[in-house]
Formats: sequence, structure tokens, C-alpha cells
Amino acid sequence: MDVIIGLEVHVQLNKLKTKMFCPCSINYHGDEPNTHVCPVCLGMPGAMPVLNKEAVKAGIKVALALNADVQPFMVFDRKNYFYPDLPKGFQISQYDHPLAWGGYVTIETEEGEKKITLRRIHMEEDPGKLTYKGSITTASYSLIDYNRSGVPLLEIVTEPVMKSPKEARLFLNKLRIILEYLDVFDGNLEGAMRVDANVSVEGGGRVEIKNISSFKGVEKALTYEITRQKNLIRMGRTVKRETRHFDEANNITVSLRSKEEEQDYRYFPEPDLVPVYAEELIEEVKQTLPEMPEEKRERFRKQYGLSDAFAKVLVMDIKMANYFEDVAKTVNPKLAASWIVDVLRGELNYRSKDFTFAYEKLKPEEMSKLLKYFENGEITEKGVVEVIRTKLDIGGRVEEIIKEKGLFAIPTKEIEKLCREVVEKNRKAVEDYYAGKKQALNYLVGQVMKATRGRADPGETAKIIKSILDK
Ligand code: ADP
Ligand code: MG
Ligand code: ZN
Repeated sequence: MDVIIGLEVHVQLNKLKTKMFCPCSINYHGDEPNTHVCPVCLGMPGAMPVLNKEAVKAGIKVALALNADVQPFMVFDRKNYFYPDLPKGFQISQYDHPLAWGGYVTIETEEGEKKITLRRIHMEEDPGKLTYKGSITTASYSLIDYNRSGVPLLEIVTEPVMKSPKEARLFLNKLRIILEYLDVFDGNLEGAMRVDANVSVEGGGRVEIKNISSFKGVEKALTYEITRQKNLIRMGRTVKRETRHFDEANNITVSLRSKEEEQDYRYFPEPDLVPVYAEELIEEVKQTLPEMPEEKRERFRKQYGLSDAFAKVLVMDIKMANYFEDVAKTVNPKLAASWIVDVLRGELNYRSKDFTFAYEKLKPEEMSKLLKYFENGEITEKGVVEVIRTKLDIGGRVEEIIKEKGLFAIPTKEIEKLCREVVEKNRKAVEDYYAGKKQALNYLVGQVMKATRGRADPGETAKIIKSILDK
């Protein structure tokens, strides 16, 4: 049974300073509820909206980066509906003259590259945030925070072209990467991206699962929903068109209401805002488009001589890519890439952190310094890992950590001296070695490791001992 998925993705332009139509700050995360509000975003009668030009520019930037056809003429409309998170009784959105039409995002599936085509991108204001006492279906009351009301939002609507929950996740991941490259979006902030996932199975009714706030949630909700719909069809029942809610705690979807129709919203042009003639803005924004992931990947290969595998991973996160370039200013780029991709990234992942955390705890200059010690053979591989962990978990200065933990590698001269001593003292093992017992060498290496408390490099030590014995 064929599955069809289309997504409506709500993206907060949360790196801007102010809201869509008023001067309230959108930097409200962690603040008391209802402290970033004014008559406009509280929807007081008579309060007039003023369009935030920066929000329009950010919207254009995203639309251009998504290969969409940005419109030189846009109109804001009122989308009318009653809900407590919307005090005006309507949301200012765009309807038949949106920011952009079309566009696509390329994802890499197991069968190769696939273009996820977009239907449209429009701008709108975020509603307030409802918090339910308990769950949405059983709560006896809910609380409203209008700090979020009026935050600039993009709605990115895909065509129904995804075939599996996994493709949906790949699309969302890629979209997030692109948005972060454009410096208009911070995916770590609560509510930064919310998804309505539409899914139908083989011609059955389309179900829209509303307001899923995590990528994992989207994948799980779709997986559940596909099974539910397939089961209905197998039992000879019809899947009815409806809106459902994803219950994250129980991993199921529950029915909310039958689907509202377009005409239910009674769209009409917002009389308090003039249309936007964006031709000049579009040209202006085109000049500011940054290097995108694919270009960066190419440049990393050429400029730093990285393998494509490393380049590909590094550009998956703009913060990681920047971190790498900062470290590579003073350290061999290949060495920097492998430590950042193979070790630091894993250590961050393990702590559920990203490179913002690395920028705080282990600055690129400090990482460079650490890798310099390694390049010069002054610290072992194990030592580098130990310093990285200590920096992330506790802090301190690189040199001091190395000194305190005794991580400075032992100079080769000293190791050679120790090897000679071990050979002197362990005549039995030496005789065994000459008698052809190769394990005897391991024993001797072990003695050196013991004497250095593991700070000698076992491979190097074996070489040295062998050269002494074979002389
Ligand atoms: P609405 O206005 O009701 O939200 P749209 O036609 O604008 O409906 O489509 C909304 C989303 O639903 C789009 O992302 C689209 O790709 C998706 N969609 C449309 N038809 C289907 C379908 N048969 N199965 C799954 N998704 C669909
Ligand atoms: Mg919709
Ligand atoms: Zn306001």
C-alpha cells in the first residue's frame, strides 16, 4: 500500500530582534510569561500593526536558498478563527499572494538524491502558547503565554512527495541545516520548528497531524498513523479525513476534529497593512546569500585537501564547519578534521550537546593548542581525549590539565633508556625471545608500559625493544 506524505513546517525566524508587527523583543525564552507583550501582539482593538522589514528580508533569504520563486508582490491576509492563543480572532498570514511559490530541498536517500518539491512559502505571525494542565484532550484548563504571539514565522508547505517517515525526517534535517546556514534560525530554541504532517495511504482520506514539535516526533507520529490507516483499510473500513494530535507520551495519534475547510477561515486582505513591493529587497538580499552546504563541502575539499567523507560531515552543521575552520587556521587541517569529526563530535553527542557548547567549553584556540602538542609528539592520543573530556566536563586550562594529569608524553630518549633497562633486568624473557617465543616481546613492552603508567606508545616501544634485541 502506497504512502503519501506532505509537510507544513512552521519555522520561527527566531534570530531577529523584534516581532513581526510590533517592537516587542522575541528573545523571550526563559522569561516570565506575558512579559514581552504590547497592545499589538495582545490583539487589543484599534492597535495597528507595522511590518518588520527585517522579517521580510529574512523570509526572502530563506525562500531564495530553497530555490523558490520569490514574489515581487505580496499581500498579508487575515485568517479568521477562534482560539484562545489568538486574541485578535484572526492571524495575519498570507493567502493568494504569498512570499514565494515552488522551490525544493535535496535529500540523500538510500536510492540516491531526491528532490522534495515545495508548494509555497508564506509569512505569518506566531500565535501565543497554550500550556495544558495535563494533556490536550483531558485538561480542565490551560494557561496562555503571549510572549510568542507575533513572532515572525514562515510556513513552508511541501508537495505530497515523501514516501516514508524516514524521508520526512531527512527533509526536516536538511531544512534545519539550510536555515541555520542563513543565520535566521536557531533550532535549539523551544518551539523553533513545528510541523503539521499530512499522510494518506493509497487513496484513502488525508489525515493531518497537527503541531509536532520534534523531528523524532514527526517520524513516530507518521509511523503510528500509517499503521493505523493500513489496518483500517485491511478491515475494509474507510479512513476519514480529519485532524489528529500526536500524543508524545503514549506515542499515538488521537482525533481532534474533522478537517476545517479553506472557506472556514474567511481569508481577506489585512486592511491595516499595505501590500509589499519586494523587487528591490529581493535584489538586496541576493547579495547577502552566504555559502551553502554543497559549496562549502566543495571548498573544504579543495582548500584544505579533506576527503569528501570528512567534508560532508563537517558541513552538516554550520557551527561545526566554523569550528573546524577556526582550528585549521593553526593546525594541519586533516588532523583538525579527524579530531573534530571522529572524537569531539562524539563526545558532544554523548553529552547531548552541539558545537555551541564546544565554543564555550573548548574554544577553537584551545583545541588548536591541544592538537599542536599532539602534532609535536608531546601528548599521546589517549591524552588528547582525556583533555577534551576534562575541558567539556570540568574546565581548566589545557597546559594545566596536561600537567596535573601527567599526560605529557615521555620523550623518546627516556623511553629508549627504559627499554634498555627492561632488557637488562628481564634476561629470561630475552632468552625466550631469542628462542623464537614472540610473546616475550609483549611481556617486555608491558614492563615499559608499567614503568610509565601507560604513557608510552606501545607500538613505538615494541619497535625500540625489537631494535635493541635484534642488534
Ligand atoms: P490544506 O489547505 O488543507 O492544509 P493543502 O492542499 O494546502 O491543504 O496541503 C497541505 C499539505 O498536505 C501539503 O503539505 C500537501 O503536500 C499535503 N497533502 C496534500 N494531499 C495529500 C495527500 N493525499 N496525502 C498526504 N499529504 C497530502
Ligand atoms: Mg494547512
Ligand atoms: Zn508586541
